[in-house]
Amino acid sequence: MTSITCKCGEIELSIEQNIRGTRVQCYCESCRGFVKTMGAPDHLLNHEQGIECFHTTPNDIKINKGAELLAAKSISQKGAMRWHCDKCQTPLADTRRNSSIPFIAVLLPRESHLPNAPEFGTKIKVIHQYHARPNATNQGRNNQGLHNMIWGVLSRWAIKLITGKVRKSDWHNGKDWRVAATVMTKSERDKLYKRAKTL
Ligand SMILES: [Zn+2]
Ligand SMILES: [Zn+2]
Repeated sequence: MTSITCKCGEIELSIEQNIRGTRVQCYCESCRGFVKTMGAPDHLLNHEQGIECFHTTPNDIKINKGAELLAAKSISQKGAMRWHCDKCQTPLADTRRNSSIPFIAVLLPRESHLPNAPEFGTKIKVIHQYHARPNATNQGRNNQGLHNMIWGVLSRWAIKLITGKVRKSDWHNGKDWRVAATVMTKSERDKLYKRAKTL
């Protein structure tokens, strides 16, 4: 079992070993801008200013402690739900707003980025690499990683539906996600994308 905590340590998540999932690096400006806005770039961003996360289903991620401190924001009305600690603001996970889609991306702290923490897999899918900084190695819009990720989610979803585990998780109260996301205002959003562009 591996645990992940926010910066203040009040929230702790745990992930069983050998669960199915996909290790992903994302360089999109939303992920980067959000991490910077929440004051956690040193904790979460790699040296090319990307995040590393593990995509799986919510029932595979347990909230060991601090569940009452979880809060969520969305950058835009239809944007992903970005879960974080309400006390120290550390981003912890992303889900879709629609709680019937059993998908979660848990953000891995920098000390768990590859080559560390091989329990999350040793292969990585890179998405939105054209935004990587400072030395983007793969120019052009290559979204193959994103497509693979979506298929990965669908196949995991189908498996969980069959086994009836979809709604049973620490993130979901049986009807909806355990917290509602606050949507950022236009000026908050503009500031976030400005921050994403600075090194
Ligand atoms: Zn915290
Ligand atoms: Zn992203």
